[in-house]
Amino acid sequence: MDFSRVELSAQDRAFQQELREFLTALVTDEVIRRDRETGENFDETVHLALGAAGYLAADYRSEAEGGFDAVRRRIWELEIGRAGTPWFHWGTTAMVARSVQAFGAPELVERIMPGVLSGELRLCLGYTEPEGGSDVATCKTRAVRDAGGSGWIVNGSKMFTSNAHNAQYVFLITNTDPNGPKHQSLTMFLVPLDSPGVEIQPIRTVDGDRTNITFYTDVRVDDDHRIGPVNGGWAVLREALKVEHGTVARDDSGLQKLATMTEHITLTATVVDRIAGIVEPGYRLGRAVARLEAAMSSPDMYGRVAIAQTMRDIAPDLMDILGTAGALPEGTAGAADGGGAEYIYRLASPTGIYGGTLEVFRNMIAAQALGLPRPIYLPPKGVR
Ligand SMILES: Cc1cc2nc3c(=O)[nH]c(=O)nc-3n(C[C@H](O)[C@H](O)[C@H](O)COP(=O)(O)OP(=O)(O)OC[C@H]3O[C@@H](n4cnc5c(N)ncnc54)[C@H](O)[C@@H]3O)c2cc1C
Repeated sequence: MDFSRVELSAQDRAFQQELREFLTALVTDEVIRRDRETGENFDETVHLALGAAGYLAADYRSEAEGGFDAVRRRIWELEIGRAGTPWFHWGTTAMVARSVQAFGAPELVERIMPGVLSGELRLCLGYTEPEGGSDVATCKTRAVRDAGGSGWIVNGSKMFTSNAHNAQYVFLITNTDPNGPKHQSLTMFLVPLDSPGVEIQPIRTVDGDRTNITFYTDVRVDDDHRIGPVNGGWAVLREALKVEHGTVARDDSGLQKLATMTEHITLTATVVDRIAGIVEPGYRLGRAVARLEAAMSSPDMYGRVAIAQTMRDIAPDLMDILGTAGALPEGTAGAADGGGAEYIYRLASPTGIYGGTLEVFRNMIAAQALGLPRPIYLPPKGVR
């Protein structure tokens, strides 16, 4: 790994300055306070402003298509994280948009892309079902051809459809061949969330996040909203999952985001820095900083695991260091460190769940990177 510093050109420094000023004016204390309170990880005003200023398009597009070059992309990712921008919904929107572009009908791509890049259209993920999410291919939500043959009728439910209430479409895994082999029975759709028969119910997680359960009752979806071949959904999904898992091929600039969810560790680093400025240095703070540095330097799936595990491990230490007032949330009178450590403590829990649990990632590392055999969860023979 190359740890050398990148010297910014005058133009890049000007870009950074302009972006900082833009974000400072946009992501106000009030925006952050509201985000912590609602747990939505989304703010429409912020999202639309980033779209109108062309930042969403520049982030989405490659340099060859007119998007950020590697240095500006890095600046962008760091600044958006440092500002504490309610931001996670853009990641899912961009990920789904890429799948639609790669596998969807050209007319559908043409219809949605302008809205995606302006911020007006948001796309959410409908993978997990009430009976289990780790094995996404075990999907019970059914899609069957409608009588006329020009569309599909969808019935089922999805758990944890985050931001469905702020989105216009859900990228839905359906089963179109219940008797077929698991990975050859899936079909993906981009379902308009204002379709009759879609119901969105809020769920508040233990850490204060707002997500949803979504129900689909005789929802009619046009065939031109199918993404990829019938029963060929696994190949479509696999590409999107690679992005979510952070296992996509890296360019050779050395500047690419190291792992998914680096925004979470940037937030954590900001809190640790602040705490380091108000308490006496000690072993536990030193350990937190060392763990933080290691997590920030770990790439791909290792980074994904290191980030969530580090947050889970150091947040209680940070709260202890601050004393009892460290357990008070942001906005509460007397909260130590403005409630930062308490927020990281709550954020750490879902960070190790959404997009795949830590256990599942550790198994993927064991199998894909270390070449270990698949785990066997059955008790050894003779043990009951
Ligand atoms: C706040 C939040 C937001 C989310 N947002 C979305 C979203 O927008 N869209 C969406 O589709 N989903 C979303 N999810 C769902 C998330 O992806 C799933 O929760 C996750 O994949 C785990 O699935 P599950 O909760 O059904 O747990 P299960 O799959 O039922 O797992 C239960 C337990 O068993 C363990 N386990 C399961 N399989 C294995 C295995 N093979 N090896 C070892 N251990 C295993 C898991 O680690 C876990 O501890 C969200 C979840 C949360 C908490």
